[in-house]
Amino acid sequence: MKSGENRKRAEEALVRCQRLASFSEDQGSLRRTFLSPPMVDCYREIACWMDPVGVSVLVDAAGNLRAFYPGVRSGAPRLMIGSHLDTVPDAGAYDGMLGVVLAVSLLESLGGRKLPFGIEVVGFSEEEGVRFGVPFIGSRALVGRLDEEQLASEDACGISIRKAVENFGLNSGEIPQVCLTKEYLGFIEFHIEQGPVLENLGLSLAAVDSIVGQSRLELAFFGHSNHAGTTPMNLRYDALAAAAEWITAVECRARNTAGLVATVGRIEAKPGATNVIAGETRVAFDVRHAADEIRIQAVNDLVGQAKGIADRRGLRIECGVLLEQRAVPMNSFLVNEIEHAMKTIGCAPHRMMSGAGHDAMIMAGKIPAAMIFLRTPGGISHDPSESVAVEDVEKAIDCGLQLLDQLASSNVLQERMGFA
Ligand SMILES: [Zn+2]
Repeated sequence: MKSGENRKRAEEALVRCQRLASFSEDQGSLRRTFLSPPMVDCYREIACWMDPVGVSVLVDAAGNLRAFYPGVRSGAPRLMIGSHLDTVPDAGAYDGMLGVVLAVSLLESLGGRKLPFGIEVVGFSEEEGVRFGVPFIGSRALVGRLDEEQLASEDACGISIRKAVENFGLNSGEIPQVCLTKEYLGFIEFHIEQGPVLENLGLSLAAVDSIVGQSRLELAFFGHSNHAGTTPMNLRYDALAAAAEWITAVECRARNTAGLVATVGRIEAKPGATNVIAGETRVAFDVRHAADEIRIQAVNDLVGQAKGIADRRGLRIECGVLLEQRAVPMNSFLVNEIEHAMKTIGCAPHRMMSGAGHDAMIMAGKIPAAMIFLRTPGGISHDPSESVAVEDVEKAIDCGLQLLDQLASSNVLQERMGFA
């Protein structure tokens, strides 16, 4: 590869992300959801980029952009590379989009060279779940996990996913056929880290080795409401004070357990008046760790502590699970190959877990999947000030090309592809 060539591609990738970010449902800020008119602009724009590479773009029945670059022989298996094209409201220009743009850059960098496997670029239709409250619509369809109940979910205008697909002119009856077949070797997703870890370490890239498991629970403390002036401190059953004691215990537990993050992000006290002792307090909390047993143990201990605090204060608690999601390990062969590619291009190899969910987590249920994180300046994401450095994007392209070359000569893959 000529030196400086990938720098130019990196600069172009950033311009392209900005171009995609100009396609929005909102005036003056970026929001792009499932099969919306600005999503069509994205499809059209990406099709223009792919044209000189000789690759045509299609939109599948679940609204995913798909573009296939064939391998050295027809019928060769495929490697899928991409990320999502939808955004949150008031979004930045790189979350998701950068992963699709980099997949296109890699195809361009090949300069027409064919590999033993084909490469399919994917732009997932909806990862964030903004329009219907259903995240990962595109990737769920690819792994055959988009069910009837999800398809019936409605947006704010009462339009279901199925209806939105039909309104767009696609056939919702073909969604089951979108499911990936055996010819897919694996999935690689480039994505900004969306956190401060790589910046703190002074590193450009990381190989993601797992996506954390999550527990979300709601806990209610029940005491007695009473007069804030006439009830002495020793005769109170204050549900809000009990919750406050417990919240600091949650923070303490997470601070003292390596890799654990725990957050109480919502609290509601009733009746909610300045001069009334709270009789009921509800809190929602979120606990995440790469190891399921550590996460589950932490949740059990924290619920036990809440019970202890309530008992000591003469209160009672109720606890309900809102979400329970197991950790998803990334494919170890691909993670090793990514790390090796990082080393080869002169990047310090680093592995990390992802604290957020991604399409790769869904894809991993069907085919080998792995992710490459890029440093996120200030750790800022889901915000218009989200950014990424051109030198890190250049390293991502270097790393991606190196990875493709490694995979092209890998015995493991050749065996899987049946021409060892
Ligand atoms: Zn994302």
